[in-house]
Amino acid sequence: MYTLKLCSLFPLSQAPRLPRAGETIHGHKFFIGFGGKGANQCIQAARLGVKTAMVYFVGQTSDAATGAASITVNDAGENAIVIVAGANMLLGREELQKALPAISHAKVLVCQLEISPQMSLQALRMARNSRVKTIFNPAPAIPDLDPDFYKVSDVFCCNESEAKLLTGSSVTNVEEAHRAGQELLKRGCGSVIITLGPQGSVVLKAQESTSKHIPVTAATAVDTTGAGDSFIGALAFYMANYSTVPLEEMARRANQVAAVSVQAVGTQTSFPFRHNLPAELF
Ligand code: ATP
Repeated sequence: MYTLKLCSLFPLSQAPRLPRAGETIHGHKFFIGFGGKGANQCIQAARLGVKTAMVYFVGQTSDAATGAASITVNDAGENAIVIVAGANMLLGREELQKALPAISHAKVLVCQLEISPQMSLQALRMARNSRVKTIFNPAPAIPDLDPDFYKVSDVFCCNESEAKLLTGSSVTNVEEAHRAGQELLKRGCGSVIITLGPQGSVVLKAQESTSKHIPVTAATAVDTTGAGDSFIGALAFYMANYSTVPLEEMARRANQVAAVSVQAVGTQTSFPFRHNLPAELF
């Protein structure tokens, strides 16, 4: 598996609630973790037992510092995050070209939007040209996404707020997710998965014109930060190792992996290892 992403530091504060604009509040706890989305997805896939690699930029240059993101988590387990991608936005065609041998020998490439959209798109095209399966996670979401992203995505996987931004329609429940998924599917992807927090996920496949809700047993969330990354890392693991398993079954298993991640604080620190999970997931 290969992933293109942000590698950065994540200061995380736990507080009773998220502060309003202009407000200073006391929190309970502070620590620094690692991210971002690509690194998280890579870590989750690796913890399930697959070899992973990442393409990213770190560094303190005159142009940009290593990426960082500040996270606040409230007592309900909800979060607010500001990402500064920094050096990752300087990753260009030359660096991507150097990564081509690794990308072209991977089973799955996962891309997000924490490097420049043009470079993510280029990487997805490179993977497609080498018959490598692609997962695209349009996060952090941008409103004017290049339509070619849909065409190079075997699986287009987003959460409710990303689906809302991309379709312009409300996505808060299973019915609305089915509708938004149909709209995204029409744009040319092989499959669409929309994650719905404690409601699980919906899976739509272009080939079969189906739209299925894959429920999950809702867990009491301690910290949902990174749940989507846990889901995508698990999905990439299943796509790389279980190519004959239907996508709906992969989503069912990925739901269960991600459900474990919401029950502990932090992002990578909350992601389960293979030995923490039931044998039926493998
Ligand atoms: P975040 O932005 O907080 O990292 P996200 O919004 O990208 O997460 P979600 O849709 O909230 O992602 O969650 C991803 C997956 O995690 C869900 O599809 C589900 O499988 C699992 N999940 C999230 N919250 C819960 C919960 N309370 N109980 C069980 N599973 C959950």
